[in-house]
Amino acid sequence: MKWLARIALLLAIVALPLYSWFITTSEGPEGAWPIDMVEVRMLAQSLPGDLPTDVRVEQVASFAVPAQAIVAGAGWQNRGMAIYAYQLVFPHGTGVIDTGITETQAKNDMRSTDWNGAAFKRIQDAVVNSGFTVLTHEHADHLSGLSTHPDPEKAFAHALLTPEQIANRKGQAPHPLSDRAISLVKPLSYDTYTALAPGVVLIKMPGHSLGSQLVYVKRFDGIELLFLGDVAWQMRNVDEVRERPRLVTLILNEDRAKVLQQLQTLNDLKKSDPALVQIPGHDPEVVEALIAKGVLHKEFVTAAKEPAPTGGASP
Ligand SMILES: [Zn+2]
Repeated sequence: MKWLARIALLLAIVALPLYSWFITTSEGPEGAWPIDMVEVRMLAQSLPGDLPTDVRVEQVASFAVPAQAIVAGAGWQNRGMAIYAYQLVFPHGTGVIDTGITETQAKNDMRSTDWNGAAFKRIQDAVVNSGFTVLTHEHADHLSGLSTHPDPEKAFAHALLTPEQIANRKGQAPHPLSDRAISLVKPLSYDTYTALAPGVVLIKMPGHSLGSQLVYVKRFDGIELLFLGDVAWQMRNVDEVRERPRLVTLILNEDRAKVLQQLQTLNDLKKSDPALVQIPGHDPEVVEALIAKGVLHKEFVTAAKEPAPTGGASP
């Protein structure tokens, strides 16, 4: 028994700090990530043409993970996550933000039991007919509707990926862009912000992945939305300025210091700009509430073919 007790004690001395470091604790941010919302709002008005009239959402799959995989120290009880894609509807066209996940990845990697083939098909149809398709980042649960598209020529005709997203082949696993796709896709180079379409601005935000960016949208009715991608998986990350556990950071190979600064900025923005609707990457509570309030509508619509007259991407 003495030996057993000694081994147990030794394990506790070694294992408890490791458990705490990798799973349950998260450091605070060192400063904040700069966002100039005056500049972003100016850019949103800089292109001629009508602002989006509607924002629609497809839920491709849902799954559950321990809460503390999302927020360090949040406990082992399960918490719902979901995979989304969004469609911006303009009077004369549409745009797509993120493109969902394949059935194989949803089932194998996420243990999802409700992958929605009809939703995935609507997304793949939409990217063919959209004026633009952009990604919040290049991870496969946002990219795969494009990277596995049965008709890459049509799918990539209006896809605008950043050079950082295109180059991060490792981050695109298990459904990376093929060489054919890379030859078809139009790289969208910009430094900090760029106006994409009337009311739509991209905000560069590397950290969670090399090609992460936020998408700001201002609608014709004045409602402003900010798609966070996976800078924050859920609103709790923003509200508590608390990152995923260090173990998840290691697995994802993210720049934790940058993500923490970005969470601080989003938290500040939530306080200074409460009307700006922040939409985390995988938060069913937030998305369901926005659907209930009529801010988002379920299911993509068939895109209008008529291109909009814009200076940037044609929605
Ligand atoms: Zn994701």
